[in-house]
Amino acid sequence: MKTTILGYPRIGAHRELKKANEAFWSGKINEDKLLETAKYLKSQNWLLQQKIGVDLIPSNDFSLYDQVLDTCLTVSCIPDRYQNIDKTNLLELYFAMARGLQNDHIDVTAMEMTKWFDTNYHYIVPEFEKHQTFSYFSKKVVEEYKEALALGIKTKPVLIAPVTFLLLGKEKEAGFNRLDLLDKLLPVYLEIIDELVNLGVEYIQFDEPCLALNLTDKERNAIKLTYETIHNKFPKLKIFLANYFDCYGENLETALQLPVDTLHLDLVRCHLQLDDIFVSKHFNPNTKLSLGLVDGRNIWKNDFDASVKLIEKAVSKISQDNLWISTSCSLLHTPYDLDLETKLKPEIKQWLAFAKQKLEEVATLKHLFSEDNDAYLHLYEENKLANLNRKSSKLIHNASVKNRISNLKETDSQRAHAFSVRQAKQKEALNLPLFPTTTIGSFPQTKEVRSMRLKYKKGLINKEEYNSFIANEIEESIRFQEKIGLDVLVHGEFERNDMVEYFGEKLNGFAFSDFGWVQSYGSRCVKPPILFGDVSRNKPMTVKWSEYAQSLTKKPLKGMLTGPVTILQWSFVRNDQPRETTCNQIALAIRDEVVDLEKHGLQIIQIDEPAIREGLPLRKEEWGKYLNWAIKAFRISASGVKDETQIHTHMCYSEFNDIIASIADMDADVITIETSRSEMELLDAFVNFKYPNEIGPGVYDIHSPRVPSLEEIENLLEKAKKVLPKGHIWVNPDCGLKTRDWPETKSALINIVETAKKLRQQETELV
Ligand code: GLN
Ligand code: ZN
Repeated sequence: MKTTILGYPRIGAHRELKKANEAFWSGKINEDKLLETAKYLKSQNWLLQQKIGVDLIPSNDFSLYDQVLDTCLTVSCIPDRYQNIDKTNLLELYFAMARGLQNDHIDVTAMEMTKWFDTNYHYIVPEFEKHQTFSYFSKKVVEEYKEALALGIKTKPVLIAPVTFLLLGKEKEAGFNRLDLLDKLLPVYLEIIDELVNLGVEYIQFDEPCLALNLTDKERNAIKLTYETIHNKFPKLKIFLANYFDCYGENLETALQLPVDTLHLDLVRCHLQLDDIFVSKHFNPNTKLSLGLVDGRNIWKNDFDASVKLIEKAVSKISQDNLWISTSCSLLHTPYDLDLETKLKPEIKQWLAFAKQKLEEVATLKHLFSEDNDAYLHLYEENKLANLNRKSSKLIHNASVKNRISNLKETDSQRAHAFSVRQAKQKEALNLPLFPTTTIGSFPQTKEVRSMRLKYKKGLINKEEYNSFIANEIEESIRFQEKIGLDVLVHGEFERNDMVEYFGEKLNGFAFSDFGWVQSYGSRCVKPPILFGDVSRNKPMTVKWSEYAQSLTKKPLKGMLTGPVTILQWSFVRNDQPRETTCNQIALAIRDEVVDLEKHGLQIIQIDEPAIREGLPLRKEEWGKYLNWAIKAFRISASGVKDETQIHTHMCYSEFNDIIASIADMDADVITIETSRSEMELLDAFVNFKYPNEIGPGVYDIHSPRVPSLEEIENLLEKAKKVLPKGHIWVNPDCGLKTRDWPETKSALINIVETAKKLRQQETELV
């Protein structure tokens, strides 16, 4: 048996790459210095893997920004708008594509970004045109191979496979299907492979995660054609085919018949795959299997007992020589090194494994199957003990939480009356004008706000000083909102760092690392909370500031909470119970908060769920199940209040068409959504479906510093008025304003309020 992994994180244990990139962008360091940092990080990763005992180490899993963008440059898939950039300045071109470029001679926008399968990692979306051509351009793959070779390490270069690359991208014009570009793309891959093979490369890892999706016959045939072509041309090359994030599903028979050396299996997401393979008539015991046993998506220690059983199952059907022990996917999605954490409770820490520890797990699993495994048995025992402790730990298990979950009733996820009844009561209680105006929650998180929070965290100012600063910010924001005439006010979220972390820190069941960073996109990293135990709420989390804000104004103030699905989605979550159960626990804690806010006089409460859509499983047949529990969890959090209390929800970055029925099923009284950039196109789903409740389609694109003019806002609202009942329309920005500055925020909100007033005026003139 041998060990391998599919990829390693690249930002550096101390986010060295982030810092180097940002220093380079701002002109503080030159290209040589940046590349030197990159080279250092790569070598550290390789040497570490070698030391720990990874037999086949990947290369080209590193990237300065993103591996899909790297692939674009490798095959010269460069959109026309970058043609004025000097191609010999590869880095300038690369970062222009990633981030846009604006100087005296050039003004180009960045390429689009979207989420990598069901992860929180964002990749750059390749752009294809009808007459797209490809050529072998950037030599990064080869250079990295040589770099590792110079250290004495013969790596397995990783390539994003041609079909997955095409499917990840999008057609920039009508009249063709990007899959038809395979004929032009494949020859470029053959050129690259040729160069690698000539250098002595034995294995190439082809990342083909689209095999985890529902594919058409045409797509499956394209995959077949790809590997047959490569195999025919390079019969000695060992193709390591990597699918991950789910099972092969209905693509399994195709995968089993491909002329590849190794088929990789994500056994964390789908451990039943082994059985499926062994009963298939296409199973060939000479095909090697890579057993992805160590979870690349989460931070829990491996369960050696379970892994050993799976390895034994494999060994009963194929020889050990034909097996790899591996990670489920690239370790890109896990933080670097648990050893750096000094503040985590030791009891919790013993349950965890970050990337480096996962390498050790891969190596140990192999050693456990060697002849002289004596020296490793203590590791097996240690692992068993840690996992046993986790099963019974008091830190995790809270009987009253479990009790509440098992006593959940159908009515807990239902408001007392239907929307039409609630709407009438709310109209009376709130007395809002037609086209009510509001914002999504946060106001600019200025340098001052962030620095005060940091000072407080570091103990440089005391609690009173910090609280009086926050109180002051809230008061100013309330005065501002009153002055410009918004109808439903917010407190501004000045006390919050991040919409998930803020709640995680206040709830039982969450832990926080100091260095648990994972790459989100480019130089952006996130540090997801670790949701390790039963979730409960000791005391109110937001009541103090919301109540205070409400006390400052006669206008209704909207309480502001993060919803259960979003908290779940943006944390490292438990793997010892279904996600549904964890989500329901969070839902109950949020429900208690909602009820407390109502008790303290808040008549409107918003429960943000921007992450509902990204939680969708990769395979469509799984969608229904997920949507069922996710929507129910939201409803549990929202249903503890009386009819008069108005529940809002908010969603952004979403394509709503395919889940609109579920969004309606959330039964929020009001939903605010992002629609301005698409010119209200995203509203179509709500219109076609006849969305029954009230809607605030965003009229201000908060991702841009531009202030929308009165005419623009009016045009957007006219579009909305054509398709929605007047009494259902709210007027608001696309999303929270925390990333904006005050001057543009003020101008934009003034324009929003003025436009709403104008529309109201027109209505009264009509009567
Ligand atoms: N209430 C949050 C805010 O305004 C919503 C953020 C989001 O949708 N991502 O910042
Ligand atoms: Zn948003």
